[in-house]
Order: sequence, then C-alpha cells, then structure tokens
Amino acid sequence: MIGARLMPTYARLPVTLVRGEGCRVWGDDGTPYLDLLGGLGSLSLGHAHPRWVAAVTDTAATIGLTTNLVTTVPQAKLSDRLAAITPVDDGQVFLCNSGAEANEALLKLVRKRGLAAGRPVVVALEGSFHGRTVATLAATGQPAKRAPFEPLVDWIRFIPPGDAAALVAALAPGDVGSVLVEPILGEGGVVPVDTEYLRTVRERCDAAGAVFAVDEVQTGSGRTGRWLALEAAGVRADVVSLAKALGGGLPIGAVVARADLAFGPGEHGSTFGGGPVPSAAALAVLDTICAEELLANVIAMGTLLRQEVARLAPAGVVADIRGDGLLCGFRVANTTAAAVVQALVVRGVLASTAGADVVRCTPPFTINPDEIDEGAKALAAAFEDVA
Ligand code: PLP
Repeated sequence: MIGARLMPTYARLPVTLVRGEGCRVWGDDGTPYLDLLGGLGSLSLGHAHPRWVAAVTDTAATIGLTTNLVTTVPQAKLSDRLAAITPVDDGQVFLCNSGAEANEALLKLVRKRGLAAGRPVVVALEGSFHGRTVATLAATGQPAKRAPFEPLVDWIRFIPPGDAAALVAALAPGDVGSVLVEPILGEGGVVPVDTEYLRTVRERCDAAGAVFAVDEVQTGSGRTGRWLALEAAGVRADVVSLAKALGGGLPIGAVVARADLAFGPGEHGSTFGGGPVPSAAALAVLDTICAEELLANVIAMGTLLRQEVARLAPAGVVADIRGDGLLCGFRVANTTAAAVVQALVVRGVLASTAGADVVRCTPPFTINPDEIDEGAKALAAAFEDVA
C-alpha cells in the first residue's frame, strides 16, 4: 500500500492526489475532487496559481538558501509588508517555517518579557490550538492533546473564552505577563471569540501591564476577508503569529511583535526561516490578494457557502453553522464530522474535521460561485447520506 511507511499521525482520507489546478485536485486514478480542504487553510491562491508559480520558480532559479546571516530582498520586502498590514505598533518581524514555530517564538518572546517584568505566567484559552511542539502544546487548551506528554511547562493558565470575569480573576494575582488569544478557535471547532471580548482582553492587558498576543495562524493572512481577524474588533495587538495561508502552500510562518518586545541577537533563530523562495511565495500571495481583490471574494464566497448549506441541508443534521469568511464550520448532531467527511470524498469533495462534530471548509480565496454551489450541494447530500 502506498504510504505504509508514513507515521499514522493523521487519519488520512482514502485518496492519493497527483495534480491540482485552482480549487480542483485529481487522484492517481483520474478522479477529480473539489478542494474545500485547501491544505488545511494554507492554499490561499489554490493549486498552481500562475503568479505564485512564477514567483516560486523565478526565485528558485535565481538564488538558493542564504540563511539569516545575510538579508535577501524577498524577506526584507515581506517583513515590510507584514509590518504594514498587522495592527501592531512599530512591528518587527521574525520569519520561520510553520504555525507551531511562529507560536514557539511568540511564547519565548512573551515569556522572556514576563520574566523580566516579574509576571511569568501566560494565560491562554480553553479549547484553543497553538501547535504540536512542547511549548505550543502546553498552551493548547485541549487537555486530551496535552495529556500523553505531560508534564509540559508549568507557566500557562487557562480560562474559558468569552468570559470577562474569568479573565479578570486570572489577572488578579498580578503574575500574568501575557494573554494569548485565537480569534476563532479553528481546530477547537471553528468557534468565534466575541469581538467585544477581544476589546476587553486589550483593555485588561493594558490595565495589568500584560502583553496581548494573538494567534492568527489559521484566521490571518486574509482567511476571514480581512488581513487579520483581529481587525473586526478594531484593536491593536502587541504580538501576532501568522502561517498557513501566508505561504500559499509553501511553509512559512511569521511573528510580528512590538519593537520593544523583539528578540535580540542570539535569542532566537531559524536556518530555513524566511528563505528567498517561501518569502517570494508569501509576497506573491499578498500581491495577488490585492490585485485580484480576493478579500472581498473571501467574504462573498464564505457568506454564500454558509447560506447555501443552511438552505439545502436536511433538517436535524446540521446543528450550527459558523465561522467568518472562508473559515466555515458546520456542527453536526447525531453523527460524526468524520462520517460526513468520508461521505464527501465519495461525492468528490475534500474537507476536514475540527473536533469530533464539526465539518470544516477552508477553500482557496479564489473559489468562485459555481464551485461554492457544487460544494454546498455535496455537503447537503453528504449530510443526507449520514442522517
Ligand atoms: N495555531 C493555530 C491557530 C492553528 O490552527 C495551527 C494549525 O492548525 C497552528 C497554530 C499550528 O500550525 P502548524 O501546523 O503550521 O505548525
């Protein structure tokens, strides 16, 4: 069997993909699939977008890996662009290779500042997901994911999202140096965190002298129809992590931090981080989002998908429809999300689960109304199949 030597870290779908174009992928037997999985939210421009392919191939043909002992033009341009679009004052950018690596850097950065200020504790949200490395797992508010590896780190405290009183209580002892928030709990089931709550976190962090840290790995880089989901709350952060959609399929992550929080020489690093090719890919993503007005498309297509599924889904299967832009979650009742995702494969559509009972769709920002219509019909049919 192909792939038998791959560690079974994921419950893989029964397909082997060989080619993709736009929102369509093809299996090794020639079967086409509509890709609502979109590289788990990473494939912002779809498969083989000409601008992205040109940026990647031109850069790869021009310069190889230089390491961070020198500067390259793509990484310099990318850091300027990220600082400009991220609501962080006087942002300084650290480039790395993944969401976990971005959050690992974010946690080191806030921990260092917290220790220096005599407030070493980090507060994070129950139900959140921040990655699979030791520190990011420790900050992940899902006990079942942490359990096999505990004890992890002992300086992270969890509070329920949206509960202002719990936030106030967590900050009361005076030992909290930062609060880490995921604006929509993506892996936790596409659960939005109220914008009023985000404003409260900002205010309370200011009052407590704590750092407001935001994980926009899944929600950022245009996924919600804004550069960052945080913009919906109209507040600024002190440090933000990005990855997934930023690279359009190549591995890149970023931390944008207030200049006074930034790492100094020798405090952090990465051999591959911000290499010329992934940096050029990320620049192509940002340029294409602007040139093709994709933020507006993300809002229009996300709204359409949720509306169409609400209209077509059989009664009693879909308990809740939620999300923002093209991060869509459909909570099912009396069945499992995995069963729906399997039924979708049979109907020629790829999607993912987010927790046991949420079917998640994170298609490319380039998706068009016909593809949304096809996806919504397949989702409704799959819900019917498992009802
Ligand atoms: N943070 C959030 C909010 C995520 O959704 C994810 C991945 O799903 C991560 C961090 C980890 O990113 P990666 O898988 O690139 O390490």
